[in-house]
Amino acid sequence: MKINKCGKVVVAKSEEEIEILFELKRRGDKNGVETYIVDEKELKEIESNARTLKYALWSPKNSTVDPLEILKSIRQDLEQLGVDFPFSAPYRKKLDSNSVLVGENLIEYEKLINSAGLYADKIAKDFGFSENYVIVPFKGLYLETEKECSFIKRNIYPVPNMRNPFLGVHFTVGVDGRIKIGPTATPSFWKENYKRLSNLKLKEIYETTKNYLSCLIKNKDFRRTVIDEIKKYSRSYILSEAEKLVISYDKTIFKKYGKSGIRAQLVNLRTYEFVYDFVVEGDSKSVHILNAVSPAFTASLPFTRYVVEKHVFGDRFTLLS
Ligand SMILES: Cc1cc2nc3c(=O)[nH]c(=O)nc-3n(C[C@H](O)[C@H](O)[C@H](O)COP(=O)(O)OP(=O)(O)OC[C@H]3O[C@@H](n4cnc5c(N)ncnc54)[C@H](O)[C@@H]3O)c2cc1C
Repeated sequence: MKINKCGKVVVAKSEEEIEILFELKRRGDKNGVETYIVDEKELKEIESNARTLKYALWSPKNSTVDPLEILKSIRQDLEQLGVDFPFSAPYRKKLDSNSVLVGENLIEYEKLINSAGLYADKIAKDFGFSENYVIVPFKGLYLETEKECSFIKRNIYPVPNMRNPFLGVHFTVGVDGRIKIGPTATPSFWKENYKRLSNLKLKEIYETTKNYLSCLIKNKDFRRTVIDEIKKYSRSYILSEAEKLVISYDKTIFKKYGKSGIRAQLVNLRTYEFVYDFVVEGDSKSVHILNAVSPAFTASLPFTRYVVEKHVFGDRFTLLS
């Protein structure tokens, strides 16, 4: 398995951001994540092309991986343990308290776990959950270099805006040495809008537009975030945001966007606010993972352990490491 143990620096652009940098350090310490506050001189030794104001946060254990390789490997391990993966057989509906229709097949269950990403809210509603929530899709794209390059060695991130659920534009050094700038988080009007008109569903366009409009009208923070993110439709805006993080780089090598991803962002329909934290609802028959927001891939193993211990088995089991 390829892992790029490149580490990450988080760089500041203003005095206000320096305060947040120290807050990130406090959170890292609390959660047992190794991080260091470094000054400009130390930053130069770690990543000579990074630009910061006075201080930066250095996270030496940060790495990049190929998520598909990891998923394939987990699938192989689970298949050996007898787990079945019925692909192309979507959940269709709940039949009764012990069975669901999946593809053309009736499947009986003792406990159902719904981790359907963009569709988790819809499925949860069939079971009486996600009453206050809906998932609003946002499209994420990265600009990528065509081949390996070396103008930076580390991932370089801006200090996140604590009032925006999306990370700002950053540099990622991939496992293959190619460098990415992004992501965008632009509104998407149907859920699986990966490419042009792919998977277009008119009912979803209606529902998503309605949800977007309600949040835009009722919540000024939502409005401000969407306006900020819409700027990222412009390629030159993304490149100029990235420019603030480094001393210099050649914009012309970022010609193409890579494959898109759609972020399943939960919104609270009572307050019209973005939900920032993980949300899990359920009862003795079913568990619904409603907001597995980024970095839910990175956190997937401890998060799964948490879900299984707290929501699936309750006090009946404690998993051993
Ligand atoms: C642009 C972008 C960049 C990101 N970067 C990072 C990062 O750097 N680090 C990080 O940790 N996280 C990152 N994330 C977030 C990460 O991808 C998600 O948090 C994670 O994928 C959530 O996992 P999940 O299993 O809950 O949902 P998903 O990965 O969406 O999986 C849901 C699965 O359910 C299936 N499904 C949906 N509906 C049905 C149905 N009706 N029946 C059956 N199956 C169904 C889908 O096909 C899919 O396979 C990023 C996300 C985006 C969009």
